[in-house]
Amino acid sequence: MIYETLRKYFGYETFRPLQEEIIQAILDGHDCLAIMPTGGGKSLCFQLPALVQKGTAIVVSPLISLMKDQVDALRANGIGAAYLNSTISPSESIQIFRDVISGKIKLLYVSPEKLLSQDFYRQIKTIDISLFAIDEAHCISQWGHDFRPEYTQLNFLSREFKAPIIALTATADRITRSDIIQQLGLRKPQTYISSFDRENLSITVLPGREKYENIKRFIGKRKNQSGIIYCLSRKQTEQLANKLNGEGLDAVSYHAGMKDSERQAAQEDFINDRVQIVCATVAFGMGIDKPNVRWVIHYNLPKNLESYYQEIGRAGRDGLPADTLLFYSYRDVLTLKQFIEESTQKDLLTQKLERMQQFADARTCRRRVLLNYFNEAYDEDCGNCDVCQNPPAVFDGTVIAQKALSAIARVKEQISSGLLIDILRGSARKELIDNGWAEIKTYGAGRDISYRDWQEYLLQLLNMGLFEVAYNDGNKLKLTSLSRDVLFDGKKINLVSPEEAENRWKQQQEK
Ligand code: ADP
Ligand code: ZN
Repeated sequence: MIYETLRKYFGYETFRPLQEEIIQAILDGHDCLAIMPTGGGKSLCFQLPALVQKGTAIVVSPLISLMKDQVDALRANGIGAAYLNSTISPSESIQIFRDVISGKIKLLYVSPEKLLSQDFYRQIKTIDISLFAIDEAHCISQWGHDFRPEYTQLNFLSREFKAPIIALTATADRITRSDIIQQLGLRKPQTYISSFDRENLSITVLPGREKYENIKRFIGKRKNQSGIIYCLSRKQTEQLANKLNGEGLDAVSYHAGMKDSERQAAQEDFINDRVQIVCATVAFGMGIDKPNVRWVIHYNLPKNLESYYQEIGRAGRDGLPADTLLFYSYRDVLTLKQFIEESTQKDLLTQKLERMQQFADARTCRRRVLLNYFNEAYDEDCGNCDVCQNPPAVFDGTVIAQKALSAIARVKEQISSGLLIDILRGSARKELIDNGWAEIKTYGAGRDISYRDWQEYLLQLLNMGLFEVAYNDGNKLKLTSLSRDVLFDGKKINLVSPEEAENRWKQQQEK
């Protein structure tokens, strides 16, 4: 039955990974949390069950433009769909509800504001609902990277309706995941996480110097290949596009300050290969499904790893090799910190920015850092990042790793990194003595290593996914599934010496 629907309405013969499992779970009436990378095929997971079931599916989506695109695409396939948001007039809205009641509409897309309105609530109380889909579900969590306060009021759905709820997102670390489940009040949810690994993307980080020269060289090697250059400011996108045009290169700019028609034109020219390069702010790319983007450059440091991952993920959707390049300079960090100053979520955003910096600074395989950040225990070097291709000299750091992880375990994961180093170095700080931490076996076991060197080692261990930092819990260090291999199975850990790490960074900056 579901295969028939897949073929008939969507024209596909097979499911993508996890789609079938998710669809089955919804049809069985379970609440679900589905985490799939951009392009993984999330929409089908609720569209198909909506089609084969009685009633109407309510889809909550935060982006008006995406709503329209999805509804247009569904209608083009002969599926009854409509959307309700601030652009819809009251009379249109009445007609839409008539169609819902008469069974013509299988999928009704709504903005969160609309869903929360009293009117709407009264109306959906009277209709037959097949399921609720909450798209971009990370927006519900203040720990996520795109918090939208209206989303936090969606918990009435699970209290007041029997229909299953499926929450979908492309990026959520473990903390955000459990927050989504809790805030939506999902009932015994089944969680599905498809791999975040995009093996076909190469990852390179360069110091943010002579950026323009580097970009020219990079593009020069990629004649006629589509690519995106992400910039921090609108002005930068324009300046860069102009400069590239001056060299005879085919580039346009794209940002939220442009007229709708100009933006639309830029986007369509890019999608249809009439223009090779888009210099864009992060406003570009949402909902754009262009399979053959061959490269993505970050002219500036992104504000967190979620954004970075999402943006590089726009390259190589066709599965063919694609290259990504990030320029890292401290100046960008300062600019981003200024933005953060004005935010109400200062601590969290600072943490996320620090994690971004740590990635850019990494002496370990960058894919490891990324995937471990998204809690995918990834335990090998990828061979397709700049660190793997030019690996630093390493030494056997197993004992160092064991000492650190064992100390984290013995204090029951109740401390942050500063305290951990103090324990390892046997500091006489009152706090340690008072908590009984001076009694544990690893107290003072790392006295021979300086405070700074411990910082460097801990950064490397963090980047390898051997522990994580709970930013919703005082930045306490928490063990992961990979920690166990080191603590109990004698897994060997290689570390880069602080001198080597320092030298490499200097060398890179001089390059
Ligand atoms: P996401 O929302 O996860 O970013 P989409 O739902 O937009 O992804 O799907 C991305 C693309 O994959 C779309 O072009 C969609 O038509 C296509 N797609 C989805 N499921 C399948 C499938 N089973 N087989 C082939 N293509 C699929
Ligand atoms: Zn690597």
